[in-house]
Amino acid sequence: MEWLPKGWTPKLVAVDIDGTLTDANKRLHVGAIEALRDLEAAGIPVVICTGNTRPIAYGLWRFIGLSGPLVCENGGVLWYPNGDVVLRAEGKEAEAACRWLALRLPGIDADGIATNTWRESEWCLKTGEDMEAIQAELSNSAWSHLTVLRTGFAIHVMDPCLSKGQGLAQVLKRLDIAPEDVLAVGDAPNDLSMFDLVGWSVAVGGAFPELEAVASVCSPEPHGATFPPLSEAILAAKKAEG
Ligand SMILES: [Mg+2]
Repeated sequence: MEWLPKGWTPKLVAVDIDGTLTDANKRLHVGAIEALRDLEAAGIPVVICTGNTRPIAYGLWRFIGLSGPLVCENGGVLWYPNGDVVLRAEGKEAEAACRWLALRLPGIDADGIATNTWRESEWCLKTGEDMEAIQAELSNSAWSHLTVLRTGFAIHVMDPCLSKGQGLAQVLKRLDIAPEDVLAVGDAPNDLSMFDLVGWSVAVGGAFPELEAVASVCSPEPHGATFPPLSEAILAAKKAEG
């Protein structure tokens, strides 16, 4: 298995959480955590790039022991270890749009999913809601500029400028690291923009076919089991570099 291009070592590794560090049941792969620690110990920072909220990503960052910034809410929220927070969209606006929607479409639960409590740049409705009706109402409203996107666990009402790729690009600029020097690992369509941006991309085993189609390599290992051999290959490349 050739994990990396010959003679190339990433300067930074960007990783998704759900389905990438975890299995399909959202349980973290313990070997993946150890592999990320090995990368950090070798001076390769790990940046979590997730649709999850900042408190959830921060908890992982803290307890794994990472050093890189965080890209949360699919690029809506950036967090830096010095405490700086950049909100790339206003979640209150998306919430107001959803509360208005619930008046127009009785039966919609405007409170949405539980993690809305911590959401800062978007609002998420439950995944079973009538997405076509939501889109139709919004397109004729004061919130017609917002995008409606369904993922496996929610319907996201969000600013169309939000993507993991755009969020990661902003972080890399501040770190002064070229996107070509970055390796990204993911499993789902919300990782596509991140794969477009970086120099090398790895789709974990069990990834969505549309991500596998554009990945530089597809892991033969399922989800988080990708990380031990991938990390080993990165560390070997770094050692060979001298
Ligand atoms: Mg994922």
